[in-house]
Amino acid sequence: MQILFLGTSSMVPTKERNQSGVLISYKNERILVDCGEGTQRQLKISGAKLTKVTKILISHWHGDHVLGLPGLIQSMSAAGYEKTLRIYGPKGSKKFMRKLFEVFVFDRRIKIEVNEIKRGKFFENDDFILEAEPLKHNVETLGYSLREKDKRKINLKYIKKIASFPSGRYWMKRIRPEIK
Ligand SMILES: [Zn+2]
Repeated sequence: MQILFLGTSSMVPTKERNQSGVLISYKNERILVDCGEGTQRQLKISGAKLTKVTKILISHWHGDHVLGLPGLIQSMSAAGYEKTLRIYGPKGSKKFMRKLFEVFVFDRRIKIEVNEIKRGKFFENDDFILEAEPLKHNVETLGYSLREKDKRKINLKYIKKIASFPSGRYWMKRIRPEIK
């Protein structure tokens, strides 16, 4: 997993720091958390491809966390983004996304799926779980967590040679006695 801080400056960008944005790369997933103004440029500077972004998680709809969305989506569209871009955000995200597209003229729209999240698990694959939790702010705001699933590497060849007990959880118990 790679975590790339694209912007950490909060509301006003500085010469060195962009508005909010974090890119999490995990195998084929590229999860962008918030998309402040200038995020697509930060992605380009970092060498990350816009078309590789698979999900965008919006913490809240204050401008400094979303002003980069129209530009990013326009560039993804121009670059021939073919997947469905999945956007997750707090209550109101569908309305805000709809309004965003009313303000600008896009030559071509990419497929976008907007999901409004309350709390708890909202995505899971073989490797990780995405969860949301409401945060205190003056607008609906979510904090996100990416939780990697437990993985244990077992040398099966060696275990089979030394183990005289059946496979499955007994092996785990032998290796990790604290497992009940
Ligand atoms: Zn805010």
